[in-house]
Amino acid sequence: MKIKDKFGKGRALFSLEVFPPKKDSAVTGITRCIDEVSAINPDYISVTFGAAGSTDDTNRAVELASYIAEKDITASMHLTCIASDKADVLSILDRLRENNIENILALRGDMPTDVCVSKHDFRFASDLAEFIMKNGDFGISGACYPEMHRESTSASADIKNLKRKVDAGVSHLVSQLFFDNELFYDFREKLAIADIDVPVDAGIMPVTNVSQIKRMITMCGASIPPKLARIINKYGDNPTAMYDAGISYAIDQISDLLASDVDGIHLYAMNNPTTVMRIYNSIKSQL
Ligand code: FAD
Repeated sequence: MKIKDKFGKGRALFSLEVFPPKKDSAVTGITRCIDEVSAINPDYISVTFGAAGSTDDTNRAVELASYIAEKDITASMHLTCIASDKADVLSILDRLRENNIENILALRGDMPTDVCVSKHDFRFASDLAEFIMKNGDFGISGACYPEMHRESTSASADIKNLKRKVDAGVSHLVSQLFFDNELFYDFREKLAIADIDVPVDAGIMPVTNVSQIKRMITMCGASIPPKLARIINKYGDNPTAMYDAGISYAIDQISDLLASDVDGIHLYAMNNPTTVMRIYNSIKSQL
């Protein structure tokens, strides 16, 4: 089923993101996670796409997305385009069709530091969305940034570019992780003003491990509100307390988003079924 067809039924969606195993690791560690979380029947699970252009990585991502689809859970595959040409993308589209994967999160990907890796068929995610529209019947999702994309010169320029992406065929957006809901509410207002009216999933990452979150924040630039900074300062050196406090913070964030009629919650689950179950069990009555 296409993700966009799941919205508009009077409830918020609850979805998860997983990442494929690293090179030389078996997919089975992560399939165990999928087996456990399938009990809560997530609306969809998306699979990240690592090193674009690397066949090994692509194989592992497709294999994992296929496993999700076989469990009768709607699967979405992330696909980056900056290091791919049209032939690469066509070949992945064929494999997704063969494996009943109907949804793609169309991404540009981070600019490679090695210019040789970058190819020239696609410059932006909107080019990929347009190409997928012409070459198959997929549900196309796109990324969006409540605190604007780090390369953008202004929030309004970023929103204009987002509108281009939606006009190119993106029918559902998933936000970058954020920790301050007010930023997300401001962003939603800006989308409405720009006539971007596709459903938007709020991307939530529980802060359960300080070094992991520092790495993520360096990569994506999300800001840390004072309430979360106090938690990190107090419990950063105590893994158990940090885990519990990070889960509680995420639950509070999600409850507030649900009370504010968010279209969907997309949980960056870090392949951890315990985290997913703790959060889901605390918010399921509000979905
Ligand atoms: P775009 O939408 O192409 O935007 C990139 C920049 O270009 C923005 O600043 C935008 O404003 C600007 N822009 C867009 N169109 C135009 C235009 N026509 N003219 C001028 N400027 C324009 N990365 C991975 O490698 N693998 C993953 O699995 C992955 N999953 C992600 C999932 C989510 C939900 C999110 C939010 C990000 C994910 N990323 C992933 C990271 C993503 O690849 C990076 O943020 C990347 O830098 C931008 O990708 P994009 O698709 O948002 O790019």
